Amino acid sequence: MRSISIFGATGSIGESTFELIIRAGGAEAFRTVALTGGQNVVRLAEMARILRAEVAVCADPRGLPALREALAGSGIEVAAGAEAIAEAADRPADWVMSAIVGAAGLVPGLRALRHGKTLALANKESLVTAGPLLMAEAARHGARILPVDSEHSAIFQGLVGEDIAAVERIILTASGGALRDWPLEALANATVTEALAHPNWAMGQRITIDSASMFNKALEVIETREYFGISPDQIEVIIHPESLIHSMVGFRDGAIMAHMGAPDMRHSIGYALNWPERLDIPVARLDLAQIATLSFRAPDMARYPALRLCRDVMRTRGLAGAAFNAAKEVALDHFLAGGIGFMDMAGVVEDTLARLLSDLCLESDVMTLEEIQGADHLARIRAGEFAVACRISQGRTPRIDA
Ligand code: NAD
Ligand code: MG
Repeated sequence: MRSISIFGATGSIGESTFELIIRAGGAEAFRTVALTGGQNVVRLAEMARILRAEVAVCADPRGLPALREALAGSGIEVAAGAEAIAEAADRPADWVMSAIVGAAGLVPGLRALRHGKTLALANKESLVTAGPLLMAEAARHGARILPVDSEHSAIFQGLVGEDIAAVERIILTASGGALRDWPLEALANATVTEALAHPNWAMGQRITIDSASMFNKALEVIETREYFGISPDQIEVIIHPESLIHSMVGFRDGAIMAHMGAPDMRHSIGYALNWPERLDIPVARLDLAQIATLSFRAPDMARYPALRLCRDVMRTRGLAGAAFNAAKEVALDHFLAGGIGFMDMAGVVEDTLARLLSDLCLESDVMTLEEIQGADHLARIRAGEFAVACRISQGRTPRIDA
């Protein structure tokens, strides 16, 4: 019986993973080792009972009493906190889903790789933050990383049976997010609610805002480089409002392999779960005659500074990815809290990177976890300072504390 763990089980990707596991036979077909969640301990406990998990871990220690109560008499172990989540990743499982949001996903993913598992990686932040470290750990321990981000799953599928040396370019598609048709001058005043109205994909809150700002695509450009090892100038971004082509691989003979399907994450989660086989996945089938047309347009770089910043990060390499991701997470927290405007997020990230380039040797080739965490920490402090300065200069009052 195959053993599995899901990190971030209660989130958008986690729920879809859970659903596919249930459809594939649930506790009769899989031995569930660990399930982890954040604050929603009621749902975490419910999932743990259904899959008869060995251990359920919530990130927030304040949730532990409620988790313990919800699982009383079940025989399922309970724990809480970041270290407990990392320890859960030390429990061997054949297949591990990494679907925590943000840099918090890095350590559990790394620990799972050290046990030679297959890591289905939704947590793109860990590759942006520590790509070379993650890849080196996977190679050292004979572990495999399977992409779950839809674009990277599409590219991975486009490369089956191909030689990476024959790849001329990779074209990442982007929906453009909720604000794609807004006039540029209106973006500064976009609210959280407006940025959350994604036209095609139902996702977690943070990635939905990142889609509107294109920070998500910026992370994905770096993610592409880390997964496939190709040069940054071979990676292109194109806006494709229908989100039906999930990405494309262009080869040296001019051929382009495009991966199409409904915008439904169960596609790429299911591919990673069943790889190398393809099994039935309950996603909508495309009616091409009804769709009739697909459209594309080049991204306007003035609207999306994130797409420029990710190029600077790739040029710098080393710890720049960790600083970029951390600054972006802080800027997003401040935007969500009402402290800074939508376009200020890019400003905060840009200022942080510029400052850290002089403070810290971001180009360092050394990439220990400690160094990465140090760069992440410093970037969070600087980004927080810039965000507060920005808030004060604009006379904003945050709704909640970022
Ligand atoms: P989400 O916010 O819906 O869920 C995140 C999960 O992580 C939840 O279980 C939450 O409780 C948990 N969590 C949050 N903070 C945590 C912390 N500090 N420590 C431990 N656990 C914590 O997010 P999501 O949309 O499911 O995204 C998860 C990951 O997958 C992200 O890295 C995202 O970029 C990536 N991803 C998501 C989608 C999508 O469609 N949702 C698509 C591609 C990639
Ligand atoms: Mg994606």
